[in-house]
Amino acid sequence: MEISTYQKEASRTCAKTENYLMDDLHMVLGMQTEVAEIADVYKKHIAYGKELDLVNIKEELGDAMWYFANLCNYHGWDLRDILETNIAKLKSRYPNKFDADKAINRDLESERAILEYNLPNTRKVKIFSEYEIEQLQSKVYEITGDGDVMMLFNDLLGIQAG
Ligand SMILES: [Mg+2]
Repeated sequence: MEISTYQKEASRTCAKTENYLMDDLHMVLGMQTEVAEIADVYKKHIAYGKELDLVNIKEELGDAMWYFANLCNYHGWDLRDILETNIAKLKSRYPNKFDADKAINRDLESERAILEYNLPNTRKVKIFSEYEIEQLQSKVYEITGDGDVMMLFNDLLGIQAG
């Protein structure tokens, strides 16, 4: 599954209120809760000798990602941009591989410049439902009657031909 598809699918089961701060907090607390559930799996393994439940760990990773994706959705942030920028920042910090000296002596100005360039405050994306996409596609085709324009439109929105 593409990251953009995951982000859209995650929004399908996410409630939204009129209070953006409560919505944000819901997602942030949800991330914490899911990470705590992962910690609990390790605790039960270490303290009680229970078999390490890797299925459960992977389940909780997915649950945590749902909250990450929906915090992005609330703000109109593209999850792919955030993930790609994280890698770009780490490539700047460690051009070849992890280096303990570079972990301590970071070039924070360069890293901040990468973050601000790739994740500007003004960047927004709209998450369309499948219904909205179908409506838009039909409108574009109705107006242009041109399959090439339709393909360009799909490409811009990251829609797979189908
Ligand atoms: Mg969970």
